[in-house]
Amino acid sequence: MKTNIKRDIIKLKKEKNAVILAHYYQPQEVQKIADYVGDSYYLSKIGLDCEENNIVFCGVKFMAESAKILAPNKRVFIPNKEAVCSMVNFAAKEEVLREKEKHPNAKVVSYINSLTELKTISEACCTSSSAVDIIKNIDADKILFVPDKNLGSYVSEQITDKKIILWNGHCYVHNQIKAQDIINMKEKHGQDIKVAVHPECTKEVRDLADFIGSTGQIIEYITCDNSEKFLIVTEQGINYELKKRNPNKKFYYLDMVCKSMKKTSLQDIYYCLKNETNEIIIDDEIRELAYNALHNMHILSEKCKNASVN
Ligand code: SF4
Repeated sequence: MKTNIKRDIIKLKKEKNAVILAHYYQPQEVQKIADYVGDSYYLSKIGLDCEENNIVFCGVKFMAESAKILAPNKRVFIPNKEAVCSMVNFAAKEEVLREKEKHPNAKVVSYINSLTELKTISEACCTSSSAVDIIKNIDADKILFVPDKNLGSYVSEQITDKKIILWNGHCYVHNQIKAQDIINMKEKHGQDIKVAVHPECTKEVRDLADFIGSTGQIIEYITCDNSEKFLIVTEQGINYELKKRNPNKKFYYLDMVCKSMKKTSLQDIYYCLKNETNEIIIDDEIRELAYNALHNMHILSEKCKNASVN
């Protein structure tokens, strides 16, 4: 079966009117077979706009749930249900509500890497590519930002006229990196190496960056930059797209691998399509409440883009 699995997936995909979406952190073979590869924001738009009735979401659970929340008439599947982002567990809805009581004028903005229940009490969601735009545009001077303290502190450095209350969550893949790791890599590969950092990294690491951005933004930055070598401070799965677009540039990585993102295999995709397993099901009432936060994310982010075009 192994030799024909790609062909079988493509055949099943057509038969079932399905689209395969994959995050940049997915294994290379999964990215290769996907119809669309991107960061969370891009994929959330594709899931909403695509014509297919069935979405096979190769990423982690909150991404597949967000696709279902945004497009309730479509069926959304996750090939491997063990693929969950550990960051989401840092912020339970009840805990956040308790914290909000201490800050009655604050609006809750939740990173899309959060539980669906938390999205139900959020004014808006954001992704790492849209967080600054969302918080700039949201009608509030005080924001309770959950769960990622690093992304929250990055946003608060960009927007100084709003009070941003941080939560104590993080991504274990990005949070583990130290400034000394960057210094060591620069000593090894040359001080002229360009350093691209994801905002889920700590401030001491961000302070050493030539560029800070989401996976999609890092890819754009590197593709447009004329330098020859780059230190990529995010999950290593991004290398596939970087190499595809920049075959002559050199990329160096730290030991950053998200175990959950690597759980999805071609076999999982095949069985998911064949047997229609691991469908995302969300209670209607919860889905409708969570929809507002994700819908607001798109509205606020587009508002900012339109303002910069006009
Ligand atoms: S890299 Fe971090 S934030 Fe992204 S899915 Fe893995 S644990 Fe979650």
